[in-house]
Amino acid sequence: MKNNTYDIVIIGSGLGGLASGVILAKEGYKVCILEKNNQFGGNLQTFVRDKKIFDTGVHYIGGLAPGENLYHYFKYFGIYDQLKLKKLDENKFDSIVFDNSHIEYPYAQGYDNFVKQLSQYFPNEKKAIRTYVEKIQEICSFFPLYNLSAENSFYPDEILQLNAKAYINSLTSDKTLQGVLAGTNLLYAGIGEKTPFYVHALSVNSYIQSAWRCVNGGSQIAKHLVKEIRALGGKVLKYQEVTEFYIDENKQLKSVVTKEGNNFFAKQFIANIEPKTVVDLIGKQHIRKAYYKRVKAQQNGISAFSLYLVLKPKSIRYKNYNTYYINSPENVWTTQNHTKASWPEAYMFAMSEDAKNKGFADTITAIAYMSFDEVKNWENSFNTVAEENERGQSYDEFKNEKAQVFIKKLAKKLPGLEEAILSIHTSTPLSYRDYIGSYEGSMYGYEKDANQPMKSFLSAKTKIPNLFLTGQSINMHGILGVTISAVITCSEIVGMKYLVDKIKKEVEVDAK
Ligand SMILES: Cc1cc2nc3c(=O)[nH]c(=O)nc-3n(C[C@H](O)[C@H](O)[C@H](O)COP(=O)(O)OP(=O)(O)OC[C@H]3O[C@@H](n4cnc5c(N)ncnc54)[C@H](O)[C@@H]3O)c2cc1C
Repeated sequence: MKNNTYDIVIIGSGLGGLASGVILAKEGYKVCILEKNNQFGGNLQTFVRDKKIFDTGVHYIGGLAPGENLYHYFKYFGIYDQLKLKKLDENKFDSIVFDNSHIEYPYAQGYDNFVKQLSQYFPNEKKAIRTYVEKIQEICSFFPLYNLSAENSFYPDEILQLNAKAYINSLTSDKTLQGVLAGTNLLYAGIGEKTPFYVHALSVNSYIQSAWRCVNGGSQIAKHLVKEIRALGGKVLKYQEVTEFYIDENKQLKSVVTKEGNNFFAKQFIANIEPKTVVDLIGKQHIRKAYYKRVKAQQNGISAFSLYLVLKPKSIRYKNYNTYYINSPENVWTTQNHTKASWPEAYMFAMSEDAKNKGFADTITAIAYMSFDEVKNWENSFNTVAEENERGQSYDEFKNEKAQVFIKKLAKKLPGLEEAILSIHTSTPLSYRDYIGSYEGSMYGYEKDANQPMKSFLSAKTKIPNLFLTGQSINMHGILGVTISAVITCSEIVGMKYLVDKIKKEVEVDAK
């Protein structure tokens, strides 16, 4: 390939990279996105087994009803009207379940409905549940881009340092309710001593507003974003793994080189990849030691083991909601510390509905925490569709053993599951590491810590003036969090007030 020159080169086609690509292409910049895999989208990627589509990293999305935050952003990107979405149950988009109980505690859509549905199970705790939803809204109001506002963000210490576990437990002495309110811990990999309440609030709030499943998978978001970027004259290229940065004598990033030997030049660059990799690509000699060390010292959150089941037709009833299991309400903040015998102490599962047999599920995807240590034996192997390799028989045996243990646990909540399975597929922290490039397969990027709020804060600006970061390590993870990370990153280039006003104006005009 010849040398290529652009206004903006974006490394990585995760949601953060693609959303930044659309925003900047709409501003008239000549954009090029480089992706190492054969599929765009990072965690938005899907795969097919037995003709059934599986999501790898998006099981539901919040805030997509007209007027809500993600609706505005997706409308602006020009993709909202193309998305195939199915609304989850109004009165139960998530259910929280524990061992030794048949009760499914509901999370309902709409703040009043949330209080109404949950207080049926906790009639004496209505006040505590009401205070909880009010606090969530109050906390979210401090994050301007979640409310489509370009105001300067100001986060008082009381917000950044409010610990999620401590706050939730302060609302009620009812241990079961404490466990239920913290029950979607898997959404943000919460840790009792660390996780701030704002991480919980920003993760949960948009789903309480409205909760949606992507019909036929979340890869449609990537597909439509790529289409928009190309329609605006941008390039989105696969099989282009960036392996080298060329920094000039003025400490500017001049070009990036891919494994395939191609050179891409640009005035500005955005990295939508693991920041720890970015500082290695920059090279220690080009940045201050303190910055390098700060990025390298970020604590990556835990990874996951995912189970993908294809079901026999008409064997399991479809649930239009997700299920979060925790072995007991008291353990909700410690399930990452499982032992081999107790794993999994928590899991989440989501179903897809069989289009040919309505009312029945055709697939189940279930996710449980798994640390990288458990797959360390095979850490020197690498396997993706773009670069296929075997990890060996012992790895297959490990995966199979874990799948069987997981299925047994799931079957306690889904009677008849074992007989209903047509085929079993799995992924481990190694899959996430190899496909996404995240450190040790970390699911959601860096841990946020209420005890040291600024330590876990990474700016979109790097110490190289024409290189910016975007994606889940900036701002928050999740479809909403990463979309906002792209707005933050692009606002460094085009200006925050200008960009937010434009998003608001364009969507308002569209609505008329
Ligand atoms: C198991 C799981 C379940 C989840 N479920 C949900 C959910 O239900 N709802 C929700 O909102 N969020 C969910 N998330 C979170 C959400 O999917 C992510 O936060 C989001 O997609 C991350 O986007 P990103 O922009 O950070 O990019 P990433 O998805 O991290 O993508 C980075 C991209 O960069 C590419 N890349 C890496 N290195 C290079 C290189 N050197 N050169 C070129 N390209 C490179 C990768 O191949 C990848 O395509 C889930 C995540 C996981 C892991």
